[in-house]
Amino acid sequence: MITRRQTVTVNVGGVHVGSAHPIVVQSMTNTDTANAEATAIQVAQLARAGSELVRVTVNTREAAAAIPEIVARLHEVGLNVPIVGDFHYNGHILLREYPETARLLAKYRINPGNVGAGQHHDTNFATMIEVAKAYDKPVRIGVNWGSLDQQVLARLMDANSAAGSPKSGTDVMIDAMVVSALESAHYAESLGLPHDKILISVKVSSAPELWQVYRQLAAQCDYPLHLGLTEAGMGMKGMVASSVALAPLLTEGIGDTIRVSLTPEPGASRKLEVEVAQQILQSLGLRQFLPQVTSCPGCGRTTSSFFQELAQKIQDFIRDAMPEWKARYPGVEDMQVAVMGCIVNGPGESKHANIGISLPGTGEDPRAPVYQDGRLLTTLRGPRIAEEFQALLEQYVERRYGRQEVGA
Ligand code: SF4
Repeated sequence: MITRRQTVTVNVGGVHVGSAHPIVVQSMTNTDTANAEATAIQVAQLARAGSELVRVTVNTREAAAAIPEIVARLHEVGLNVPIVGDFHYNGHILLREYPETARLLAKYRINPGNVGAGQHHDTNFATMIEVAKAYDKPVRIGVNWGSLDQQVLARLMDANSAAGSPKSGTDVMIDAMVVSALESAHYAESLGLPHDKILISVKVSSAPELWQVYRQLAAQCDYPLHLGLTEAGMGMKGMVASSVALAPLLTEGIGDTIRVSLTPEPGASRKLEVEVAQQILQSLGLRQFLPQVTSCPGCGRTTSSFFQELAQKIQDFIRDAMPEWKARYPGVEDMQVAVMGCIVNGPGESKHANIGISLPGTGEDPRAPVYQDGRLLTTLRGPRIAEEFQALLEQYVERRYGRQEVGA
């Protein structure tokens, strides 16, 4: 049982972020925001994959001007996912010049490391906070080690040099990230932004440093925390790195919204980062997004690829069916499905699932017993085992999770 760190709740366009609510999955587009059509299409893909907040970069006047059209296009297809604006360097200008954009965005991300240097830093930051107050919007103070506020870092480095037993450079950098985030949040509050309009992130690209910086931050405030490993990388490396980095913190109750920052393979869908984030939360038992398919790894007892193909087919079938199932079959996301390769663990694992199939291994009888709620339901044979098991799965979902008509 994981106990969440206690935080206030921040309302981001109707999505509640904080310890009293489920951990929120979010993602970010990689289209040119100025291209409203392409961006709206990608936001819709991410939202349909399960992203509960979607961030878009707002880096130019053209990008800022495109936000109303993006939101309108999403509304046309019935999507109300909150859109978060990611601002760097010129957010104070864009938010002032494009009031409709400021009104439509659900949250502003502010990076205190690049809102301006010297006296401009505080003035520009204050301008963004004034806009947030005017439109009743929350902000994320998003510190990133690659763009850490150099004034804060220099201050802490000087203090460290003067200290009797100086810390390592990494420890000072981590201290500086926490100080930068908390000083910015306190400054925003001193300007009149309510305490429950602030989220914080302090992202680094190494897992051990991420644990250190978030533990430090979590101990010093009750703002909800946006958790993510920045620049996690591509493909398997990015997925493993993100999972390894996020899991210990989530297990300690740290993190109220997560993003998995994957570099997509060329031409690959952006929604993989949403699926990975969901799987991390689901694997930790923190949220249930879609039925869990348990499949064994296979071994020398499964010499054909039929078993892998069936496991893949069932996984894909469930993922594709989920948007409709979620609406029609409340609780279906808790279902457990087992697809097992042979008689060794197959029947046992299948009996523990809601519905499971144990395929014949090499040298076993060519038959596949199907278990439902712990009992043998039927035994499938022949070339259509995959289709027949899929049909049994659909019938099970309908019967177990279908709404009972009152008086029927
Ligand atoms: S269930 Fe059978 S096929 Fe699957 S890993 Fe175990 S022994 Fe191998």
